[in-house]
Order: sequence, then C-alpha cells, then structure tokens
Amino acid sequence: MSFKKDLNRRKFLKLIAGGTAYSLISPISLLADNSAAEPSNPDENIKDYISKIKNFDKPHPTDVILTPQMFNVLKSSYAKLRRVQRTVGYGNFNLISFDEVIKIARNYRRVGPFTKEELHFMEMVFYEKSSKYGFGGEKVLKNITDKVKRKETIKVPYSGHFLYRGDSLILYNKLRKDVGTNLILTSGIRSIIKQFILFLGKAKKHKGNLSLASRSLAPPGYSFHGIGDFDVGLKGYGGLNFTSKFTKTTVYKKIKTLDYISLRYTNNNLIGVRFEPWHIKVNKKA
Ligand SMILES: [Zn+2]
Repeated sequence: MSFKKDLNRRKFLKLIAGGTAYSLISPISLLADNSAAEPSNPDENIKDYISKIKNFDKPHPTDVILTPQMFNVLKSSYAKLRRVQRTVGYGNFNLISFDEVIKIARNYRRVGPFTKEELHFMEMVFYEKSSKYGFGGEKVLKNITDKVKRKETIKVPYSGHFLYRGDSLILYNKLRKDVGTNLILTSGIRSIIKQFILFLGKAKKHKGNLSLASRSLAPPGYSFHGIGDFDVGLKGYGGLNFTSKFTKTTVYKKIKTLDYISLRYTNNNLIGVRFEPWHIKVNKKA
C-alpha cells in the first residue's frame, strides 16, 4: 500500500467519524471473539446486533455516517453515475467498469467529467475496510478497476441481467427446470460500478449512513454478484421479490426443498447483513 493511499484512508476515517455515532468495534468482532465484547453484558451486544440486522433499514446509534461535506460529494458522484446509466442503458450498466465510466462521463456532455474530489471519494469508499462501519463480508474484488470479462457472460433473455457461463448458468438453468419458469432472474452479474450505484443510492436515501446501507447492500468490491452469485424471484412479483414477502411465494418454498441450493445471507448471519432468501450462493470459494 502506498503512503498516499494510506494517508487518504486515514483522512477518510476522520471524515466519516461524524460526531459520537462512531464505533471502531464491529459487531462481528463482538460476536466472534468474546474477549472483545463489552465485559459488562455480552448478551446485550448480541441482542443489539440481531435487532440491528432485523431492523436493517432503521438507523442505529452506533452507525457510521458521512459528514455533510462528504455527503455532498456522495450526492454529486451518484448523480453522475445515474447519468452514465441512462446514457449506456440499464443492461450495459450491469457490466460497466470504473475506467469505462470515467471515459463516458468525459465524452458525453450530458454526463460531465467526474471531479477529482468525486474520484477520490469513490476510491476511498472502495478501499476503506467495510468492517469499520459494520459490514463483515469478504472482499471478492480487490481493485476498483477490476473488469467483468464480457466473453465469459451471457445475457439472460427478458431479464436485462447477465450470468457467468459455467457454474452460475448451469445452476440457474437447473433451478428453472426444478422450480418452473415462474422463477426469474432479478439480478445477475454486477460490476464494481453497478454495486457502487446501488450502495451509494442506499446511503444517499439514508443521509450518508454507510452502516445502514451495508445492512442490505454489500459495499462495492464485497458483492458476490461480482463473481457469480445471483438473485431470483417470482415472475410478476416486482419489488416484493426483495422483501421478506418472498418467503411466502411458491418459488421460495420450492427452493427450500432443493438440497443443492444454499443462500449467501442466511437468517441471523454474522456478516452484518439482513436475511436474503432470494440470493443464491454460487461461488464455492466462501
Ligand atoms: Zn443478491
């Protein structure tokens, strides 16, 4: 790690440490290692953690929140990403790389080039350790410029989404065969940039609360959608496919009976993420 990057990282931590709502102790270390837990009442911490991921969309006293200055940079970066998305189309945006986004922003007047501040902000978000704000998942893509190899992907008809050929596609086709064509792909491969727009969009909606955002969306670089996982839903069920209501569907009930399927984010997981009954684990690495 270069000194400059290290300095930026420290600066970023200072910037996100907004007031008292900041704790360096992630819930993961509290749960995994008892010695790190508050000696007074470890049960309280576990209860607190469980309640946090159950009420994932609610702010919590220990959440890490951006300063107003950083929140403004988040908003302008997000607006530019949205303009790029409208320029290239939603489907293409699923696979787009950081370098491509910078180029398009520069070349299209309706987007406008990213400022140094915005690029710096995105780098800091990408290279910051997510455990600092409560997300304990593994980082699967290490460089902000990592690209999706388009040759290795296939566009799934009518979905607007892509899957990796090989394990992901085989599993998806097997699922459709066993569950039925009522099962649809609701999200496939997501490039680092696609994960950026989702994560920043969530953080924007909740006033720069990175902890809250990361309880339902992996930060860029940490999403297994980048390396093969995918989401499924019931045809015609729309946004409800991404809510707890999905567990009431015939699709989910059938999936539960299939022994070859496992979910990435199980109920009461220790990663810091809400239960995601729609998110199919593909990559066996983790
Ligand atoms: Zn997912």
